[in-house]
Amino acid sequence: MRPADFPPPFDPAEFVREPTDPADERIDVGILIVGAGPAGLAAAVRAGQLLAERPELAERLGDVPIAVLDKGRAPGAHLLSGAVVNPRAFRQLFPGLTTKDFPFQGAVTSEGVYYLTRRSAIRIPAPPPMWNHGNYVGSVDEMGRWLAERAEELGVAVIPETSATHLLVQGGRVVGVRTGDKGRGRNGEELPNFEPGSDLKARVTIFAEGTQGHLTGVALDRFGLQSRPQVWALGVKEVWEVERPLNRVIHTMGWPLRGAPHRREFGGSFVYPMGEGRVALGMVVGLDYTDATLSVHELLQELKTHPKIRKILRGGTRVAWGAKTIPEGGYLSFPDRFHMPGGLIAGDAAGFVNVPALKGIHYAMRTGMLAAETAVEAVGPGRTAWAPGALAGYDEAIRTDYVWRDLKRVRNVRAGFKYGFWRGAALAAISITSLGTFPRRDFKIEPDAELPVGIPKTPRRYPAPDGSLTFDKLSSVYLSGNKTRDDAPNHLRVRQTVAPEVADAWVHMCPAQVYELAAGAADGLARVEVTASNCVQCGAITAKGGRLTPAEGGSGPEYSVL
Ligand SMILES: Cc1cc2nc3c(=O)[nH]c(=O)nc-3n(C[C@H](O)[C@H](O)[C@H](O)COP(=O)(O)OP(=O)(O)OC[C@H]3O[C@@H](n4cnc5c(N)ncnc54)[C@H](O)[C@@H]3O)c2cc1C
Ligand code: SF4
Repeated sequence: MRPADFPPPFDPAEFVREPTDPADERIDVGILIVGAGPAGLAAAVRAGQLLAERPELAERLGDVPIAVLDKGRAPGAHLLSGAVVNPRAFRQLFPGLTTKDFPFQGAVTSEGVYYLTRRSAIRIPAPPPMWNHGNYVGSVDEMGRWLAERAEELGVAVIPETSATHLLVQGGRVVGVRTGDKGRGRNGEELPNFEPGSDLKARVTIFAEGTQGHLTGVALDRFGLQSRPQVWALGVKEVWEVERPLNRVIHTMGWPLRGAPHRREFGGSFVYPMGEGRVALGMVVGLDYTDATLSVHELLQELKTHPKIRKILRGGTRVAWGAKTIPEGGYLSFPDRFHMPGGLIAGDAAGFVNVPALKGIHYAMRTGMLAAETAVEAVGPGRTAWAPGALAGYDEAIRTDYVWRDLKRVRNVRAGFKYGFWRGAALAAISITSLGTFPRRDFKIEPDAELPVGIPKTPRRYPAPDGSLTFDKLSSVYLSGNKTRDDAPNHLRVRQTVAPEVADAWVHMCPAQVYELAAGAADGLARVEVTASNCVQCGAITAKGGRLTPAEGGSGPEYSVL
């Protein structure tokens, strides 16, 4: 049964509107950036640097020349990554600083890639995209906080706790966004602390919403820019305080995933040292898998029972947990254009991720910088930012940049794994060694929700949580710092009566235990109960047949070291 056979009650047109606030109530911004992740904050810093060189232009853009919105409680609160970072974009953005000034926790000094079976770990040669010499380990939450401070120093208004919910379109062009209301009850009623959202009008809007960008999706639909589908992986991550420092970066493939082609279980794990006393570890699995009983959260728990991983964590304590999706289609899923009248798309929102390298941060930052350069140019004297082609320079800049070259070379690697682990690995080797020349044709990308899911005769079994090495979903959600009110309106659009296989797939997939099977179904269908307040906004449900929309600003997880 395909999740796509139960489409969510969601119409993108519902989220497009004209500005309605009177001129004296709305906020006018020069360059508006939606999303304070690496892409949005690099865009803010770059725009701030350029306007600092052109004060007359900053003056022309009004009281708020640059603003960045984020739905998290503070910059970094909704960011989650590995993260081994290629410092290239940091160096480009801050040419006056050196690597020791950046918010990194240490250089990668040693690394190993392993193929796991249940009990053993076989070291295998690292494919070139996974070479991390010259890269640095860090927490993207810390990077977010650091970049937000640099942006504020340049006069950027960084506005947290604010969800952009509607796309403002007027005269066929994007003119900004409307922010979400706060203080509504379960059924939409106004509570005593109700605050209405407001229109933010902008000359140029940069969409840097990251994975599963809500308004990005609405804009791609409104301007007809997504002719090729996107696909995603779900990553679940923990941070541990450990007794013995880990001295190298580890990646694993194989167990607990299974390699048979019909299962389509693509992914692996990462274990990164975070300074002397902490270790980050995570499991990433493509959401095109077919086993409805697969749970990435529980696979991560199982991974920790492997002798190799257990040894690293022995005597340690789990201090953080979170989950987030990664857009994995890369070059083969790029939108037809990265710009539209009045708008630009940067970072994960456009799919700038190198899957075999598990890298997106420097691509997000770089595309954010290029978007900012285009935007500042377009708002200059004698220019009309929304005139046809005014923002086309952004696409040209990307096509001549390392972002394009890197992602084009690895374009077939992820898609080749639809043929199973071993054939996929062989195709990946050919693709990587030929620098993307072979295979000559581009593989077809199939949307995750269009692949059937089934309940196997022997459903997957996972280790029972013991509360010291392995944990259940609810205690993990608690550790994420999730602040969503129990009586907030439901921000998840899903059908609640679906095929049993689809219901089971959602129950297992959601790392935050949002979906549970409920009584009362009929006609061979199952009923799903939704506890939206558990949601950590990872985005997986959008890939697998539902739709995540922005929750009230300031709700959701409060990540700080992920
Ligand atoms: C498990 C995992 C491991 C990874 N490991 C690595 C790694 O080791 N190295 C690496 O380079 N990359 C890694 N990546 C990828 C990397 O994290 C991303 O490519 C990068 O964070 C993308 O940056 P971004 O700014 O485009 O999006 P994001 O980091 O997702 O930031 C987007 C921001 O926009 C906000 N937002 C979204 N929508 C709205 C809205 N409507 N209104 C207001 N705010 C909004 C979000 O709250 C968020 O703060 C990993 C990703 C995952 C999930
Ligand atoms: S409900 Fe929330 S936490 Fe669960 S899969 Fe969907 S987006 Fe992720």
